[in-house]
Amino acid sequence: EAKRNGRGRHARFHSALEASARYRRLIETDLRGAIARRELGLHYQPIVRAEDGETIGYEALLRWRHPTRGPISPLDFVPIAEETGLIHEIGAFVLQEACREASRWASGCSVAVNLSPVQFRSTALAAQVASALAASGLPAGRLELEITESVLLDASTNNLALLGQLKQLGVRIALDDFGTGYSSLSYLCAFRFDKIKIDRSFVREICDSREAVAVVRAITGLSRSLGIATTAEGVETPEQAACLRREGCTQLQGYLYGKPMPASALPEGRETIVEAAIMATNEALLSG
Ligand code: C2E
Ligand code: MG
Ligand code: MG
Ligand code: MG
Repeated sequence: EAKRNGRGRHARFHSALEASARYRRLIETDLRGAIARRELGLHYQPIVRAEDGETIGYEALLRWRHPTRGPISPLDFVPIAEETGLIHEIGAFVLQEACREASRWASGCSVAVNLSPVQFRSTALAAQVASALAASGLPAGRLELEITESVLLDASTNNLALLGQLKQLGVRIALDDFGTGYSSLSYLCAFRFDKIKIDRSFVREICDSREAVAVVRAITGLSRSLGIATTAEGVETPEQAACLRREGCTQLQGYLYGKPMPASALPEGRETIVEAAIMATNEALLSG
């Protein structure tokens, strides 16, 4: 599965032994106090407009600095938080923190927050979002919530109603990792999303695989017809960016434009990141 391949800079479970029940219990115990001990924080990764490279928003990505084990990937601890129900508390923290930090950005950029499907099992979710907006003063229009299609798969009509409540608050809803898992076009009819995020697994292949091109073209065509945005995730090369732009992707995100970074490292204004500039910098580095 695509997500499992995303290693990032984090320590991951290196062996079956580490992934054992015992290790999971250790992580669970440590995770319980992690918010109070201020070990959890958010990094932000730029999302740029495909047309001109202007940064329009940032995705908030959760980071855990474990006091003895070092950084632990969300791919490893979010599932444990989901199993134990800790995700409700952690999710509330992420919403508060993302809104608080984004409300200070002079750039006026929006912030995208990932929601776990488990958070949809709590009727408190809409109230948590409303409270994060109220406490921070962030306009609802600058908050985007990323959900995966499993939210719709769980698909009680309940989840659809909850999504409707969130939308009522004035926030935008993005469908994350589209094309993986049990993607179904019918999800796109079930709820009016504001954005589809094309999974990194297709972006990785976009220059080499006709199949990947076909999938991306279908998604962007559909999005255009529906009048919604498409963000390509995991863009790493200028070549990929060119292909994605040609296929009609409206937004790009990936290491090519910037890695996730702490709020303190974000530029003051709205940066414009164009591949030509990136290539020039690379060439200068190589020749210099
Ligand atoms: P996601 O929402 O699909 O986030 C994108 C992931 O791709 C992030 O990994 C990001 O660092 C990584 N990425 C971005 N650009 C590139 C690139 O060019 N190349 C590669 N190889 N990777 C790239 P990260 O930060 O490790 O997060 C992994 C997943 O953990 C996220 O996938 C999301 O599902 C989950 N997650 C992260 N933060 C939160 C959170 O606050 N709440 C919840 N519920 N889940 C979260
Ligand atoms: Mg996401
Ligand atoms: Mg994603
Ligand atoms: Mg993804």
